[in-house]
Amino acid sequence: PPTQESFDPSKKTIVVLGSGWASTSFLKAVNTDDYNVVVVSPRNYFLFTPLLPSCTVGTIDVRSLVEPIRFITRHKSRDVKVYEAECTDIDPEKKLLTIVDSSDVKGESSVSTIPYDYLVIGVGAQNQTFGIKGVEQYGCFLKEVWDAQKIRTKLMDCIETAAFPGQSPEEIDRLLHMVVVGGGPTGIEYAAELHDFLVDDLTVWYPELAGKIKITLVEALPNVLPAFSKQLIEYTESTFKEQNITIHTKTMVKEVREKEIVVKKSDGTDASIPYGLLVWATGNTMRPMVRNLMNKLPESQTVRRGLSVDDWLRLQGSEDIFALGDATATKYAPTAQVASQQGKYLARVFAQLATTEKLEDELASAPAEEKAKKLRKYQKSQDIQPFKYSHQGSLCYVGSDKAIADVPFAQGNLSSGGVATFAFWRSAYVSNIFSGRNRWLVITDWTKKTLLGRDISRE
Ligand code: FAD
Ligand code: NAD
Repeated sequence: PPTQESFDPSKKTIVVLGSGWASTSFLKAVNTDDYNVVVVSPRNYFLFTPLLPSCTVGTIDVRSLVEPIRFITRHKSRDVKVYEAECTDIDPEKKLLTIVDSSDVKGESSVSTIPYDYLVIGVGAQNQTFGIKGVEQYGCFLKEVWDAQKIRTKLMDCIETAAFPGQSPEEIDRLLHMVVVGGGPTGIEYAAELHDFLVDDLTVWYPELAGKIKITLVEALPNVLPAFSKQLIEYTESTFKEQNITIHTKTMVKEVREKEIVVKKSDGTDASIPYGLLVWATGNTMRPMVRNLMNKLPESQTVRRGLSVDDWLRLQGSEDIFALGDATATKYAPTAQVASQQGKYLARVFAQLATTEKLEDELASAPAEEKAKKLRKYQKSQDIQPFKYSHQGSLCYVGSDKAIADVPFAQGNLSSGGVATFAFWRSAYVSNIFSGRNRWLVITDWTKKTLLGRDISRE
């Protein structure tokens, strides 16, 4: 546990917003001997999102993928304050934040303001719906722990309702039609996990219904996984065909109703697709708090995708504010890989800032004969390198113990797909899990699933 007092008035205070990939990797690397650090996040844990699709069918338990943020902060050399709260407003002029306790249990105090010297914004993004009617009301997203739990519950509910006596054949077909909208990696991995659950477990427990369960993926573009190589796109599409997962490409969802979606097909005509469970995975959009901040800086914040930052992750048009991860609009894809590298980089920037400040003090009090040497050292410390992303490759699970990988190799790219790539996918993800505890839990879940199958209870 930290040994020193939490707040040192002689040190500057960094407030970190969020406990996702960006903020957590920053938090792990930042030196708390140099700064007072405060974390504000409505989630008091870090979530390992790459394996979240596995939680929708019980391959992995959600508890195996979360790590309390206090597990991380207690290993710092000085105490870090953690507030489970949502930041609802940033005042860049007064350097003041409004934070709100948005959890179910509220005390007498549930709104507060806190000051910062430096602000690190890692609040991520929210689900994109393009304002399409009915998505929020009837669709299930796949971003947070509770999303995966909701999908799992609703999936089992659809199956049990289909088994209810007197259900018409049309209603059974509707209830057992699982539709996924969005052929990005989230939609693909979810459909793949659902397929495995169907083949491995549902056929055993619901022999009379399993054959009627259908999985359909709807994608607006001409193909799925636009960020992967052509060869892997074809591999994914053929693997899905073998797995009886129907893909409708060039098909755009226009409206979501309680029991059907209305789509515009490639020939320009509209069609209705009845569904029992709808998972909506069409990417990211800005959070309201981020939009609110951008509105306060209208001249510098003009990109609609997210916060504009420079190559040092400084928020354009502000002072002492840094932004990283999915909350920003950069040339990089909104991935955990980018967010975590940015977090680590920013911690190094802060270490260098602390050194510069110390050297500035030393320079001011240095005797005349040492001034030139100190000045050179001080100037050198101000030369902070810009953020440089190092792409380690893209991976995606496609079902039936097969995965695809696009990995940079020599000057080019190495594309592979299949069972061997799945072994690589598993080892890459396991080695990236932050804590040994979570790593052990995930491996245990995989072993449990292999030996005992997945649980079909409706939570
Ligand atoms: P997040 O991880 O989303 O964290 C945002 C944090 O901010 C959260 O703690 C949230 O509670 C908090 N927050 C929200 N609002 C506020 C507020 N108002 N005030 C304070 N805090 C707030 N990327 C990969 O590279 N590889 C993968 O395999 C991969 N798989 C994925 C699978 C799924 C299902 C999903 C959804 C995403 C996946 N991604 C993957 C993308 C990756 O998860 C994101 O790019 C990454 O989470 C971005 O990190 P972040 O810290 O910016 O945001
Ligand atoms: P995405 O933005 O990658 O894909 C969304 C897809 O939805 C797009 O292909 C888009 O054409 C489609 N779409 C949009 N509107 C539609 C509509 N109305 N009807 C039908 N289709 C529509 O989103 P994602 O898959 O959630 O991924 C978000 C980010 O997280 C990406 O950067 C991704 O790389 C990352 N991620 C990575 C992994 C991985 O590496 N395995 C897994 C999940 C997410």
